[in-house]
Amino acid sequence: MEILERAILEKGKVLNGGVLKVGAFLNNQIDVNIISAMGKDIYEKFKDCGVTKILTVEASGIAIAVITAQFFNCDTVFAKKSKTINVDGELYSAKYFSFTHKNENTLIVPKEYLDKNDTVLIIDDFLAHGEAVNALIDIVKQSGATLAGVSVAIEKGFQGGGDELRKKGVNLYSIAVIDSMENGQVVFRK
Ligand code: 5GP
Repeated sequence: MEILERAILEKGKVLNGGVLKVGAFLNNQIDVNIISAMGKDIYEKFKDCGVTKILTVEASGIAIAVITAQFFNCDTVFAKKSKTINVDGELYSAKYFSFTHKNENTLIVPKEYLDKNDTVLIIDDFLAHGEAVNALIDIVKQSGATLAGVSVAIEKGFQGGGDELRKKGVNLYSIAVIDSMENGQVVFRK
């Protein structure tokens, strides 16, 4: 999608370790025009899939997920990264290795927010090695819900998580796919 690719080129910054910083429009400061356009784009791809709930992970997936949920007229559930005092009752949980924090984390979702009657679209900001998305897919499986698909704003294609999901038959839509970021130069997959 042109608006996202342009923002990545103009406002993104390639950091060491295969990390793209997009704090200027997605992760720290949020550009409502860009995320609205992304939400509409995701809706167009999945509008016939019977989506009843959007599932994401705190914190940076929430903005895109919520704005997309407006188009589907459904609720957004977000997985928390640790148990806090305001979470009680039974939980779905899945472990994953965090790309940005470089540690093992557990995602948790209260069982009361997801069940077998749901058709779930998973949304996140980035797809790198696929750890976070696979943990969310695990949670959808535990709930007995149907997985409509997965959509991410930015897939870093060179880190392999997206192709693994496609091989497994997951309906994946990445708005922008980056094939390489060598020497600070972002190259998009055509
Ligand atoms: P994965 O689990 O697919 O390896 O990594 C995806 C998760 O790590 C996303 O939830 C995202 O928050 C974070 N992440 C991965 N790569 C990047 C990156 O290049 N930039 C930023 N800002 N976050 C990333």
